Amino acid sequence: MADFVGKAAGLSISRRNFIKASAAAAASLSLAGCSNSLSTVGVDAALDNGEKWVSSACWHNCGGRCVNKALVKDGMVIRQKTDDTHPDSPEYPQHRACLRGRSQQQDVLGVDRIKYPLKRKNWQPGGGDKSLRGRDEWERISWDEALDYVAAEIKKAKENYGPQSIMSFARTGWTRNVLYAYGGTTTHWDTTSYGSYRFPWEKIGMGQYDNYSVNDRFDLKNSDTVILVGGNSAWSAPGLYSYFFLQAKKAGAEFISVGPNYNAIAATLDARWIPVHAGTDTAFLLAVAHTLIAEDDPVSNPLIDWDCLNRCTLGFDAEHMPEGAKLKENFKDYVLGEYDGVPKTAAWASKICGTPVEDILFYARKIRKDNKVAMYHDYAPARCIGAEDFPHIFATIGFMTGHMGKPGHACGNIHKEQVNAGPALVKAGGSGLPKISNPVKDCINSPGLWKSILDGKYLYTGSFQWLPGEWKDIDIRVLYTEDKAVLQGLPAMTHGIEVHRKVDFVVTQAFNYNTQAKYSDIILPVTTQWERPGMVMTRDKEAVLVYSQVIEPLYEAKSDQWIAVELAKRLGIDVEQVFPIDEKQQFFNQIAGCTVISEDGKSYSPLVTITADDIAKWEVKGEPQSGKIGLQELIDRGVYQVERHEGDNYGYYAYEDFIKDPENHPLTSPSGKFEIYSDWKADTLNNTGIANMTFKPYPSYTVAPECYEATFSDWENQVKGEYPYVVTNPHYLRRTHCNQDNVPWLREACHNPVFLNRQDAEKKGIKTGDAVLIWNAHGKTLRQASVSDTTMPGIVELPHGRWIDMDEKTGIDRAGTDNILCGPVASNMGVSGYNNYTCDFKKYDGEPLIPDHLIPAQTAKVL
Ligand code: SF4
Repeated sequence: MADFVGKAAGLSISRRNFIKASAAAAASLSLAGCSNSLSTVGVDAALDNGEKWVSSACWHNCGGRCVNKALVKDGMVIRQKTDDTHPDSPEYPQHRACLRGRSQQQDVLGVDRIKYPLKRKNWQPGGGDKSLRGRDEWERISWDEALDYVAAEIKKAKENYGPQSIMSFARTGWTRNVLYAYGGTTTHWDTTSYGSYRFPWEKIGMGQYDNYSVNDRFDLKNSDTVILVGGNSAWSAPGLYSYFFLQAKKAGAEFISVGPNYNAIAATLDARWIPVHAGTDTAFLLAVAHTLIAEDDPVSNPLIDWDCLNRCTLGFDAEHMPEGAKLKENFKDYVLGEYDGVPKTAAWASKICGTPVEDILFYARKIRKDNKVAMYHDYAPARCIGAEDFPHIFATIGFMTGHMGKPGHACGNIHKEQVNAGPALVKAGGSGLPKISNPVKDCINSPGLWKSILDGKYLYTGSFQWLPGEWKDIDIRVLYTEDKAVLQGLPAMTHGIEVHRKVDFVVTQAFNYNTQAKYSDIILPVTTQWERPGMVMTRDKEAVLVYSQVIEPLYEAKSDQWIAVELAKRLGIDVEQVFPIDEKQQFFNQIAGCTVISEDGKSYSPLVTITADDIAKWEVKGEPQSGKIGLQELIDRGVYQVERHEGDNYGYYAYEDFIKDPENHPLTSPSGKFEIYSDWKADTLNNTGIANMTFKPYPSYTVAPECYEATFSDWENQVKGEYPYVVTNPHYLRRTHCNQDNVPWLREACHNPVFLNRQDAEKKGIKTGDAVLIWNAHGKTLRQASVSDTTMPGIVELPHGRWIDMDEKTGIDRAGTDNILCGPVASNMGVSGYNNYTCDFKKYDGEPLIPDHLIPAQTAKVL
């Protein structure tokens, strides 16, 4: 089998050509997924005998959804391409892959694949030498041995300490369902991607993080101004998302980018940059509100849409308060400083945000009610400590200026629906697997997860429920990770490593030797999505992506479901209860259940034509049906996409009906209006016990424990403290979250430096390429510097997801791991504050750093 990988590597696209293509794509647009120069249609004509393109998954969930295809010959992958199912056009755009999708073959066929079940050399039932987790060698064991060990440790933990002593980490949850059926496990809740957007804001009348908070993509060209707050779609989820922005640019829209850096999407769109320190967006927007209030004159200078405010909201001013409001305060008077003596002026915010006063004034005047403005934000600003009220103030500004419910006007979050909101035009069917519920209610908030396990107690607030807090004891003995990389991906990694060296047993299912696998006792090798029957993927509302099995399972890898079934047998669980159908049937069910919208936009019908022959060939259960595309054609194409055109029936404007007629189309709040003032919000958050502050019913500014203000020891006199910088962790083009860090082409194309502001670097004598030590109270890490003016002064940008390489003697991570600098500090809402921890940095004079692409991939040392 080792020859298989070598042969595949030899037959694949050359490294040089890949790097050249990546560089060309990046240079042309800074958007590896969007360049028209990469468009090809009809490549299949050049196929040799025996070669076949198979639609292949890019499964790491960057937020985008792209068509990837693998050329298979003699059972191995020799090349990849992206969407060439039809010519590219704005109406009917291709779903082009970025360099991460295009290098997926190096991930699947990487030297870091776990080839067979592994046992840590110094592990013994009960733990063995636990301190060696993360640096031990490995021994090959059989599947039977591995599964017997795992089952025995799970049984022991449950019998001795109860099922809540088992902590499971899973996104999809095959094994987790078995563990639920066995008595349950402790879980964790995390606002991860969505930050403070995870709070149920629909209860005050706004879109949460669903597909309905902004307008259909065709409306982008109606905006005169498009404002992007936070986020960088050119890196995080390149593809259609950024392509739609380019269409708006072509149509003449001006772009404004707000955030701590002038990033790739801002540069691509030639946006005006408004710099704002990470985590201070609420202060920035309060000053925008102040400017609107101070400068508005309905006759001579109409900035505020009073009609929208008065008809559609509650709590803006004393005349529009909800009945029975507990606090005799309103948003407008708070902004004007009536309660705390601090008017939230541009000068006030400038000190906090680092934003020039004229930029704040510019923003407020630009979003005047008569300008057609789309205000979009990504989730990065919501993933900060101190971002609790960011969604609330963002929507409040939208209602103040009336940028809701009309062509050209929009205000909301855009990452999930990729700036293309509205009902899905094509939907996937369900797999048919039953939902197994978890009898254990223990559920720990992620920022404090590792510390809670170390301390043996945690604050229970439900799972995404923000219930009144209750301190509970917890005694975790087993960590079972199924399809996540929690040690690498959660904050407080230093504590995470301690936990991994404390508990009795750590088992991980993984296809490669990632950080989670490295710190385990037993590694169970799983297949990748390229080695499984297939799946239907959704997110873009106009398409379903269907990917199929590309190659046979490599080495001794097994699917998650196979592992779960084998474990279920050993735990005495009725397999039929958890897995009544096999993986192929699940894939078939997803396809058969696909539905597509009718041309009038009013109803849905089956998408796929399935014949009795298809059912017989697939050897599955099902009924013949009639649809718009044949089963085999869909599998071959890998995508079904609804073609759009101007004036079709699929347009959508968020809040349209409500803005026109709020009485007959109420929002989801108790009053039916958008509640700028909400006692429910304040009471819910104040009762959790998470907060060490008191929430107001309206959006307000609070000083967070780790934030820009915390970089000063004396804020009033502007004296800097021990950690004078704020570190953020942008999603980087080289990885999707914590995935693909070992991929050689990606390492060579994207060097993963720490991005520093020129003035900050010069003060410390640092230039591009120098090794830099970055540290704070939570950890220390090293990276080569990239110095420029595109990072704000005071900000350190450390890309997210680099796999840790801890020097145990010095306690310094040599890899540039972002989460080693994140501590166990939850925002007052329980949000992980990935983007605003305080830190310091200096030139590193220790052992020189080797560029990542010259370091051998991280692999398990098997004896
Ligand atoms: S990583 Fe995201 S943008 Fe890139 S190919 Fe995969 S799905 Fe598309």
